[in-house]
Amino acid sequence: MEDVEKFDIDVLGEALYDSPLGLSKRKGDDIFNFVTDKDRVLRYISLNDHNNCVKGEQEPVALEKAGPREKIYFNTKKTKAAIVTCGGLCPGINNVIRSLVMGLHYFYEVKEILGVRYGYEGLIPSYGHGFVDLTPEYVKDIHQFGGTILGSSRGGQDVGEMVDTLYNNGIDMLFAIGGDGTLKGANAIGDEIAKRGLNISVIGIPKTIDNDVSIIDKTFGFETAYHVANPIIRDAHNEATGAYNGIAIVKLMGRDSGFIAASAAISMPVVNFVLVPEMHFELEGENGFLETLKKRLDAKQHAVIVVAEGAGQNLFNKEGKEKVTDASGNVQHDDIGLLLKNEIAEFFKKKDYEVTIKYIDPSYIIRSAPANPGDSVFCSGLAYHALHGAMAGKTKFVVGRVNNQYVYLPISAVTSSRKKINMEGGFWFAALESTGQPFEMR
Ligand code: ATP
Ligand code: MG
Repeated sequence: MEDVEKFDIDVLGEALYDSPLGLSKRKGDDIFNFVTDKDRVLRYISLNDHNNCVKGEQEPVALEKAGPREKIYFNTKKTKAAIVTCGGLCPGINNVIRSLVMGLHYFYEVKEILGVRYGYEGLIPSYGHGFVDLTPEYVKDIHQFGGTILGSSRGGQDVGEMVDTLYNNGIDMLFAIGGDGTLKGANAIGDEIAKRGLNISVIGIPKTIDNDVSIIDKTFGFETAYHVANPIIRDAHNEATGAYNGIAIVKLMGRDSGFIAASAAISMPVVNFVLVPEMHFELEGENGFLETLKKRLDAKQHAVIVVAEGAGQNLFNKEGKEKVTDASGNVQHDDIGLLLKNEIAEFFKKKDYEVTIKYIDPSYIIRSAPANPGDSVFCSGLAYHALHGAMAGKTKFVVGRVNNQYVYLPISAVTSSRKKINMEGGFWFAALESTGQPFEMR
């Protein structure tokens, strides 16, 4: 179990200013539900854990509760904020930007908010991207669109130079919306700021469509991802049933974790096979995937397969082959969707068994979709809780929900490992129940 200390959040200094939220408080009403740094949320909520804590056999793992503080660190009228978005697209980025701007402007009276263009590149002056002034007028409609109005990028940038830019432009707080790489970058920026003794706060808002951030319940965009995948799978099923021995393969996101593929399969229960990175399956053999697929066709004359992009990487001949990485060093997976399509075609051809295969890869359509209502609500909550923490002078933290409560976590606590599907847990069992696929295909 984690060391309790690990979850403490760094602060820039003592919070001495009265929050404008408190000053605008209606007489006698505390509609803002101010939170103190002593308010904590339990990470483990089972009765067993509770009993062990009461008996003194275990320390409670308590996380800092997010929310507005009555005393804040920054003098709001003189505060300058910046927002950057990095990595791949994910539904909801614009909702987060919009809520950050509206919250900073209307609740905290912060009038200068800079939008950093094209990810961390925008903090390196030699790229010449410049900043945009983010005002309520500028952001008022952006929640309707997918993507990021600021643009994004991959590729490493010099941390010292990025901190120079923050300092030279008088920026007091940087909100970084991005995945694992972005958060590691934000932490490195925060370390450099601390080394120089500057008063700049760095806040991460985790963005991963794959929902693979450890500790926190879920990440924004994930729900929209399987929402958008839903009708695509429905249509894939129409394609499969529209031909004798029709096979439809839908490739979805999921580099290391198969939450999108499995959730999509459970929510649109016409899926017969869901293949995720966490499972080991083989194509060949009596109980392998191809023979299992044949049995399915013998019985029902059609099949729908959902495959996560990171599934079945063991099936590629890796001997002597260098791993291909993108500009940020993320390993690029071999295309499992195309491999399946080709292997399935070859297998049935050899048997003189007629099949019709349709291959659908909607990944970019899903990544660039606007957030659905559930994610929109969530993005707004993440943004508001992020800015309350920032105004209180907290730094190198991310905002997230744990046991349905908004909390602040040190960036380092969420970047050290990834959340994966527990192949012996209830969620995966639900995927097996829904698809009817065997427990093992090897
Ligand atoms: P995705 O989930 O789409 O990959 P991501 O945030 O992980 O999102 P990356 O392209 O991997 O996207 O990283 C975003 C940015 O963070 C890149 O510019 C990358 O160079 C930078 N970065 C990653 N790790 C570090 C680090 N340790 N120090 C400084 N910058 C980093
Ligand atoms: Mg990455």
